[in-house]
Amino acid sequence: MAKRYASDEASDEEKGRKSSKPPLIKPSLGHWSQGLLKSMQDPDLILDSDDKCIIIQDGYPKAQHHFLVLSRDDISNLLMLRVSHVVLLQHMLQFAQSYTKKSHSSIHFKFGYHAVPSMKRLHMHVVSQDLDSPCLKNKKHWNSFTTEFFIDAVKVIKTLEEKGKLDINREHYETMLKRPLLCHVCRKELRNMPQLKTHIQTHRHK
Ligand code: AMP
Ligand code: ZN
Repeated sequence: MAKRYASDEASDEEKGRKSSKPPLIKPSLGHWSQGLLKSMQDPDLILDSDDKCIIIQDGYPKAQHHFLVLSRDDISNLLMLRVSHVVLLQHMLQFAQSYTKKSHSSIHFKFGYHAVPSMKRLHMHVVSQDLDSPCLKNKKHWNSFTTEFFIDAVKVIKTLEEKGKLDINREHYETMLKRPLLCHVCRKELRNMPQLKTHIQTHRHK
């Protein structure tokens, strides 16, 4: 079975713990890593779309506002990207930025990709910077959005323009998920997730 890194919510699905499954996600027969392919066709999850990409609600949001932008082209992950994809990636970023401007104009978002994604089909995360959500449960989740494991969309585009492809060393990125828990706002180190969750509340509404 494929090893998973950033989002291990699929384990709940595999074990059939129905109670932990958010109501938005419908049961799927395929492998958990294919879940986005189903969700990108689900009208209940689709927020906006055009001929090149689809914005969906993240099924296990790691912040108060968390969306995914998926390419309609069958690109499985970042490693498949070449310089010819720059136009598509720029479009996905602009499409997402204009969506958030329209729908959540006062919220600060980050736009980027997990270096080692767990789900198939290229998807850009659009995530509000409160990082406050019951689905954000563990260190892997936290570090996947607050370390360089989260690669800014502009950086992905620049690297492709300059180098023609992305050079992703899996082990290098995996170690980031094990780093200590640092607040993403003030960099204070917290001992555990409950302390971190309490701490980040101090940065709300400032
Ligand atoms: P990544 O680690 O970049 O592959 O992240 C995958 C994202 O997909 C995570 O933020 C999950 O919360 C989200 N996710 C997992 N399964 C589904 C699904 N079936 N529908 C919608 N979002 C999902
Ligand atoms: Zn802090």
